[in-house]
Amino acid sequence: MPSILTYAEHRDGTLRRPSLEVVSEARRLADQMGGDTKVECVLIGSGVAPLAATLAAHGADRVHVVDAKELAAYATEGYARVVAQLISNEKPKAVLIPYSAMGKDLAPRVAARVGAGLVSDVVKLTVKDGKLQARRPMYAGKTFATVEWVGEPQMATLRPNVFPLAPADAARKFETVTADVEVANQRAKVVSMQATAAGKVELTEAQIVVSGGRGLKGPENFHLVEELAAALGAAVGASRAVVDAGWVDHHYQVGQTGKTVSPSLYIAAGISGAIQHLAGMSSSKVIVAINKDADAPIFKVANYGLVGDIFEILPKLTEAAKTSLAGRK
Ligand SMILES: Cc1cc2nc3c(=O)[nH]c(=O)nc-3n(C[C@H](O)[C@H](O)[C@H](O)COP(=O)(O)OP(=O)(O)OC[C@H]3O[C@@H](n4cnc5c(N)ncnc54)[C@H](O)[C@@H]3O)c2cc1C
Repeated sequence: MPSILTYAEHRDGTLRRPSLEVVSEARRLADQMGGDTKVECVLIGSGVAPLAATLAAHGADRVHVVDAKELAAYATEGYARVVAQLISNEKPKAVLIPYSAMGKDLAPRVAARVGAGLVSDVVKLTVKDGKLQARRPMYAGKTFATVEWVGEPQMATLRPNVFPLAPADAARKFETVTADVEVANQRAKVVSMQATAAGKVELTEAQIVVSGGRGLKGPENFHLVEELAAALGAAVGASRAVVDAGWVDHHYQVGQTGKTVSPSLYIAAGISGAIQHLAGMSSSKVIVAINKDADAPIFKVANYGLVGDIFEILPKLTEAAKTSLAGRK
């Protein structure tokens, strides 16, 4: 039976939204391919089987569960071995993985093990003559390439927040199977994890991102960005200039050498809009730029531009957001 296999990423007992976007997209593609193409998922971890129902609600027909204490936390080698074995057993037509930090680490290793072509950071997939075609940005988002695969499986990583979630249908029928894979003899395992940003909105999955740049003048002013983000329930981002200057940690960096984000709303405060920054945020649905220089390149990609001083505008926006959101409660 032809199938599309997706990788399900989870944290703290919850599936990550990009995993559900990937299953939703696999369902859409499988329905277009026809021939009773199935959507299958691989779920790896310890005590993760109950998550299968959520994958099914978004489109999975069958969930392969690999439940092992040795694989309780993500470790590159062990997970890559398991996914590669499953691909060799099941021979899916396509394998779709979220373009998350974990997916970026896992997918190339799996592709190398199974000898598959991998297209990364895909923003669109279409079916042509029963095969997939992928669209992906190139040269820091200046142009897009349309890519086809030679052979199978056709492997791709999908950019988060780009592919829509299918509405959840809890009544969808599905099957859970124990994957027939070797999990023993891991050469490396994770012994402990320490979260640095506990409780904060994950940048790559956030629906709203507020980013600050060098226009903030110094780390003592970065709270202006954090306060607006808190008022909007948004994640905080930063330009590389700010990260390189040591104002905030690297995990806040948006751009070519940072994270790629596609939120519904991206607010850039005191960021000039260098091509390397645009590479990480230009696929945001609505971009608001605040900059005192009317000729700043960020305004070329912005849907709304505020020419003015961030030290005046950010506190006003924060107050307006607080008032407006409080009014809705
Ligand atoms: C290989 C490579 C990779 C890179 N990767 C990344 C990356 O991943 N992400 C990234 O961001 N950059 C990246 N860069 C760096 C990039 O080229 C820029 O240097 C950087 O994005 C600039 O950051 P910025 O916009 O905060 O600072 P600046 O370019 O200095 O811009 C500051 C802006 O703030 C405005 N401003 C100043 N004061 C105020 C005020 N009071 N009110 C309003 N506006 C004000 C100014 O008009 C200016 O437009 C990379 C560069 C290279 C070479």
